[in-house]
Amino acid sequence: MSAARLVTVAVVLVACAARPASVLPDVSHTELTSRAVQVTPDLTVRPLAPGVLRHTSWRVLPDVGRFPSNGLVLLGPHEAIVVDTAWGAELTEALFTHIERDLHRRITHLVVTHSHDDRIGGIREALRRHVAVHALTLTATRATAEGLPPPTDPFERETAVDADGMRVEVFFPGAAHAPDNVVVWVPSQRILFGTCMVRSADARSLGNLADASVATWAASVRAVMARYPSPAIVVPGHGEPGDASLLTHTLDLVAVGR
Ligand SMILES: [Zn+2]
Repeated sequence: MSAARLVTVAVVLVACAARPASVLPDVSHTELTSRAVQVTPDLTVRPLAPGVLRHTSWRVLPDVGRFPSNGLVLLGPHEAIVVDTAWGAELTEALFTHIERDLHRRITHLVVTHSHDDRIGGIREALRRHVAVHALTLTATRATAEGLPPPTDPFERETAVDADGMRVEVFFPGAAHAPDNVVVWVPSQRILFGTCMVRSADARSLGNLADASVATWAASVRAVMARYPSPAIVVPGHGEPGDASLLTHTLDLVAVGR
C-alpha cells in the first residue's frame, strides 16, 4: 500500500471515530430501535417491547445526586406517541429531534402524567411542533398556575389515544404521588406506565412527597391493579422497569408511610 493510500485510510478511520453518536446515516432506524441509544450524556432511549421504547433523562438533584426519570415512546409506521416529556426543555428537544431525525417518525401525541417538571417540563417543545398534548384538567390548571402553557387536550378522568395503529389508555386512579397523577396502559403489549406513583424495586422510600397524598396512595394503587390486573411490564417514573410486583412493593412502602 502506498504512503498516500495509507494516509487516506488513516484519515477515513479518524473521521469515523470522531463521528458523533447521534449522526448514524448508515444505521437503519429499525436497528436504532433495537438497542439502547445514548442520545446525549443525559438522555437514553432503549427498547422496552416491540414498537415501544423507554426514554430516560437524568438530572442532578440536591442531596441525591444524578437521578433518572422515565417516559415512553410508541412507534407506529409513521407517527410516534410520547408519554411524558424528558426532564426539562433541553432534553425534550433532544428526545423529539432523535424521534424525528433518527427514527423518522412524526410526533403527533404527548400524554403528560402529572404537572411536575420531569413530566411536563418540555411541553413548549411539543406545542411548538403542534403535538396534541393530553393531560388531566387538574394538570392543566396546575401547569398554568406555574406559568406553563396549558395542554391542548384536557380530560376529566380517563381518555384513550389512537394514532397510526397505536393505542394508549390513560386513567386517573386517585391522588398518590401527586393530586393529578394518571397511569398509562398500552394494551397491545400489556405495559403499565405507573409514573411516580409506582416505585422501582430498589426504591426504599416513596420519593418526593411535596405534593403527595399518602392517605389515599394505597387505594389509588389498588384502583390501578383492579383495572389492569395482569400487566406484563410495569414502568415506574424513576428506576428500572419490572413486573406487577412493583405495585405490591409500592403498597409495602405506603404501609410503612415513607
Ligand atoms: Zn412527580
